[in-house]
Amino acid sequence: MIHLSFRPYPLQLRYAFGVATSTRTSTPGVQLTLEWEGLVGYGEASMPPYLGHTVESVCNFFERVDLSGFNDPTQIDEILTYVDSLSSGDAPAKAAIDIALHDLVGKITGKPVYAMYGLDPSLAPSTTYTIGIDTEDMVRTKTREYADLFNILKVKVGVSKESDMAMITTIRSVTDKPLVVDANQGWTCREEALDRILWLKEQDVRMIEQPMPKDRHDDIAWLTQHSPIPIMADESVQRLCDVAALKGVFSGINIKLMKSTGIREAWRMMQLARELDMKVMLGCMTETSCAVTAAAHLSPAVDFADLDGNLLIANDIYEGVKVVNGRLTLPNRPGLGLICK
Ligand code: MG
Repeated sequence: MIHLSFRPYPLQLRYAFGVATSTRTSTPGVQLTLEWEGLVGYGEASMPPYLGHTVESVCNFFERVDLSGFNDPTQIDEILTYVDSLSSGDAPAKAAIDIALHDLVGKITGKPVYAMYGLDPSLAPSTTYTIGIDTEDMVRTKTREYADLFNILKVKVGVSKESDMAMITTIRSVTDKPLVVDANQGWTCREEALDRILWLKEQDVRMIEQPMPKDRHDDIAWLTQHSPIPIMADESVQRLCDVAALKGVFSGINIKLMKSTGIREAWRMMQLARELDMKVMLGCMTETSCAVTAAAHLSPAVDFADLDGNLLIANDIYEGVKVVNGRLTLPNRPGLGLICK
């Protein structure tokens, strides 16, 4: 019998984290384990407040999960289809179960998760490191601290033209590393957005994430058509069912396990995006190395990886994926390959 247990575990941020719409210093989270015949799979749910999930909603979902009908954890599809059928939402809670199940099955079969999906860990890409919206001094300090450790930085913009340009100019005063930017839906006029993008391209910005509000598909499609650099969907995409409608609107999609309900559906989203000739990015929330490592196992198959959530928290309880010379380096151990600190 598969035994599920969980406990709330708030994530403390190393720095207050500013995006176009808010600033915060901690993220609610819940840690979960699935145990079977002496083996333990680890999972977690992370709930940044803007998505509407809470510790209570996640714990309530776990209370409703009854795995007594499943004696074989390797029935991943059957188990996760059952879990998904319990509600229409609850993506982070479903992701926690999906992640723990992959960890457990990897341990049962002796395979790292990347091998379960036929991926080559040596192809794992560089990850971006995110610089949040902050004072010029803090932006300069953070950029100095991280520019040497990463091959590419991600910059949060989307407030005003002046503040966006100041963020980039400040970073460019410290480093000439390539950048990607995330506007978090902050730009509202497509012509102005295009002007901003053309300026950003001159600053060696390689990609723009979610430039405009998520439902403005016509404007975003126009922008994507005119933009010299790829435009990726983040807030506009949650699950597999959202992907096909974004063909022709965005250049590609940013997949996050806490939105996709975990690894299984993230993989399907990647397959569909490739069939549609779209780019693929893997992102994360602020998470421990548990969920970040889970996403990193799929990273050999993506164009952009933004898997720095574990580096943004002060109370990680696992060791897993590492950043070595700016690149994601996966543990060569069964399952997620986590070590509990
Ligand atoms: Mg984003």
